[in-house]
Amino acid sequence: MDKIVNRKQQIKLFLIEFFSFLIVFTILGTIIFVFYQRNTYNSVDSTLTRRTQMASNSTNMMGPPDFQTITIYYNFKGKILNSQYLNNMASTVSKIKVNKDKLNKIYNLEVGETTLRCAYVKVHSQMTVDRNGEPIKRSQRPKYVLVLRNVTPELQGVERFKELLLASFIVFGLIVFIISYIISGYNMKPVLKAWKQQEEFVDSAAHEIRTPLTIIQNKLEGLMTKPNDTIKEQASAIIMSLSEIRRLNSLTSDMLTLARANSNVITLEKTPVNFTEFMNQILEPYADLIESQNKKLVTSINVTKPVLIDAKRVHQLIVILLDNAIKYTPTGATITVNSSIENRNLKIQICDTGIGISDKNKKSVFKRFYREEKSGNKKTGGNGLGLSIAEWIVSAHKGHIKITDNPGGGSIFTVLLPVAK
Ligand code: ATP
Ligand code: MG
Repeated sequence: MDKIVNRKQQIKLFLIEFFSFLIVFTILGTIIFVFYQRNTYNSVDSTLTRRTQMASNSTNMMGPPDFQTITIYYNFKGKILNSQYLNNMASTVSKIKVNKDKLNKIYNLEVGETTLRCAYVKVHSQMTVDRNGEPIKRSQRPKYVLVLRNVTPELQGVERFKELLLASFIVFGLIVFIISYIISGYNMKPVLKAWKQQEEFVDSAAHEIRTPLTIIQNKLEGLMTKPNDTIKEQASAIIMSLSEIRRLNSLTSDMLTLARANSNVITLEKTPVNFTEFMNQILEPYADLIESQNKKLVTSINVTKPVLIDAKRVHQLIVILLDNAIKYTPTGATITVNSSIENRNLKIQICDTGIGISDKNKKSVFKRFYREEKSGNKKTGGNGLGLSIAEWIVSAHKGHIKITDNPGGGSIFTVLLPVAK
C-alpha cells in the first residue's frame, strides 16, 4: 500500500515538474519567436513607410533610387504609369491588383513563390506639368503609389527560426523529461525518510506507552481483587502505578516537544543571558543530588559577557546532558561542567567518568527512543528521547553537538552554540 502511494506521489511530482518546465519553455520560446518576427517586420515596415512618404511627395515618377524597394505609380483608374522604370519587374508588377481597402496599410502579398510586403498610399504632390512645363493629362497624373519589398528571404529566415525553435523544444522536452524524472525521485527521498521516521516514531511511541499502561492496568486490577485491603497494605502497587504514571507524563511531554520541533511550531526566543549566573542556577539543585549519590561535580564557567540564547531551551539541554551524566556513571564518578567562549561560539562541555558510549553508537544515541543495551533500560528508566531533544535544541541554535571519549573512561558531550559578537 505504501509503495503504491509513494509511486503515485512520485508520478504526480514528476508530472508537475515536467509540465512546469514545458510551460516555462513554451512561454520563453513564444516570446523569443514573436520578438524575432516583430523585429523582422518592424525594420521592413519602417523602410516601406519612409519610401512611401518620399514617393508620394516626389515630383517625378522615377522614384528615388533604391535596390530594396520598387515604387509603382497608378493613375485614378488604377493603370500603372511608370512601367518604363520598372525594367524586368514590369511583368510581375502588372499582375498585382491594387485595392482601395488597402490604402494607408502595410500588408503581405503573394505573387507566385514570392512574398511582397506592400504599402499603398495616395500621392500628395500635384504633378500637373511635366519637366518641360507642358500640362500632364489627367490619365497620366499619378494618384496612388504602391511601394513593394520582397520579404521572401526574411520570411524564410523566420520560418527557419521557427523550425529551429521547434527542434530545440523537442530536444529540451526530452532532456526535461529525464531531469524531471530524476528530480522527482530525488525530491521523494526526504518525504520517504520523513514518512519512515514518522512510522518508526509512532511504532516506538506506542511500544513505550504500552509498557507503563500494562503495569498500571495490572496493578489496578490486582487492587480490585482485594477490596478490603488498606492503602498501606497495597502501598507498593500504588507507588509503582504512580511512578509509571510519572514516566508516562515525562514521555508524553518529551514526545510533544519533538513533534512540535519537527513541525517547526516552536520558535526560539533568544535573549541576552548572564551565563555564569544562569549556569549556577541550573547546577545548584544538581550539586546536592550528585553529592547524595557519592559523585563529584566540578564546574568551571568562564563566560563573562552576556550571551544571546533561548534560556529555556538551553536550560533544558543542560539538564538532559547532566541527567545522562549522572544516570550513566557509577558511584565515585566525577562530572565536570566547563564552559567558555571560543571563536564566537559558546562552548559547553559536560564530561563524565561513567560507562562511556561505544564509537558505533555515538551517532545512534541521538535517534529517538534509542537506548544502549548496557545502560540498563529497567534500572535507569529513561525514554531514549533526551538526546533527540538536545540535538534539536542545538540545531535550532545553529550549533553543533558531538560526543568524544573521556581519556580516563566515560564520555564528553561538547556543545557549540554560535552567539552574537
Ligand atoms: P531520557 O529520554 O529519559 O533522557 P535516555 O537517557 O535513555 O532517556 P537519551 O538521553 O537520549 O535517552 O540517551 C540515549 C542513550 O545514550 C542512553 O540510553 C544511553 O545508553 C546513552 N547515553 C547518553 N548519555 C550517556 C552518557 N553520559 N554516558 C553513557 N551513555 C550515555
Ligand atoms: Mg537521557
